[in-house]
Amino acid sequence: VRAPRRLSPTAYVDGILSGDRIVLSRAISVVESDLPFDVDLTGHILEGILPHTGKSVRVGISGVPGAGKSTFIDALGVHLIQDRAEKVAVLSIDPSSQVSGGSILGDKTRMARLVSLEQAYIRPSPSRCHLGGVARRTRETMLVCEAAGFHNIIVETVGVGQSETAVKSMTDFFLLLLVAGAGDELQGIKRGIMEMVDAIAITKADGDNVHRANRARDDYRNALRLFPKGLDGWSPRVQTCSSLEGSGVKEVWETILEHQKLLTETGHFQARRRQQSLDWMNDLIQFGLEDLFKRHPEVQSRLASLTSEVRVGHLSAFSAARQLLKVFGGD
Ligand code: GDP
Repeated sequence: VRAPRRLSPTAYVDGILSGDRIVLSRAISVVESDLPFDVDLTGHILEGILPHTGKSVRVGISGVPGAGKSTFIDALGVHLIQDRAEKVAVLSIDPSSQVSGGSILGDKTRMARLVSLEQAYIRPSPSRCHLGGVARRTRETMLVCEAAGFHNIIVETVGVGQSETAVKSMTDFFLLLLVAGAGDELQGIKRGIMEMVDAIAITKADGDNVHRANRARDDYRNALRLFPKGLDGWSPRVQTCSSLEGSGVKEVWETILEHQKLLTETGHFQARRRQQSLDWMNDLIQFGLEDLFKRHPEVQSRLASLTSEVRVGHLSAFSAARQLLKVFGGD
């Protein structure tokens, strides 16, 4: 079935490359769609834009609700646009939408200054059920934004769940935002996340909070010293900032650029991007296989009865899975 009101592949590619925002948004809708027609169309669009991708700085930003993500991204985005004359795309992944239908990121106006700027593009990504809440098509959306001329791509996630791993696997730099004195010094931050960070920014370092923020910074610096240095030679940084006052935000970006420079010089940057392409391919194969499996007529007809046999304990999960995979594999 042809989805309604689609353009030709060339029209999407030309529109994206010329930076046409309306075509850009429509192309992202195609990319996010699961209709077979759109999946084919996505393939054509991506082939067309691929030579024009890969040049942006890709940054993942995570933090619990209230950590100050949207305020920080707003301040950072304005800095990039006004001081550096660069464009910025923000892809916000809201993991709550699949569970409650509600939204953790909220309906309030986020990034109020950024939304009004022509050089910014903000797009919430529906997360569905993949990769612990990371939108299935965020990588593809990122490429489309790159081809449209955005120098910087920020992928924002709420730090609840496994989305960090997925975001790390598609970005160059992983930044964690933490608030000092929010009750505990390790606010829901699991060890695994600490091992992934390239930098931590302690937010809201202003007014009465400056002292607490500085103390938190020192604590996290000490905590991070316990981890071995990454294979890429980078040691994670901890900085403080105030998005409201605008202090420290520019410095966080300088850290990101420093990281990029170091890793480019040592070749780790290119290696990481290549590895990400392979991860991407493997993810797509896994998604595709799962889809094929669930659509397989014989699997469909036997899945329900096998599921209930496993549930009541008449059949082991092991045997049930083997039977279904045999049916699927055709032998
Ligand atoms: P998010 O849920 O992580 O996106 O957090 P928000 O950016 O919405 O910020 C949560 C609250 O903290 C809001 O009331 C902000 O006004 C406040 N906030 C964010 N950044 C700062 C800051 O730099 N200083 C101060 N004092 N408050 C901040």
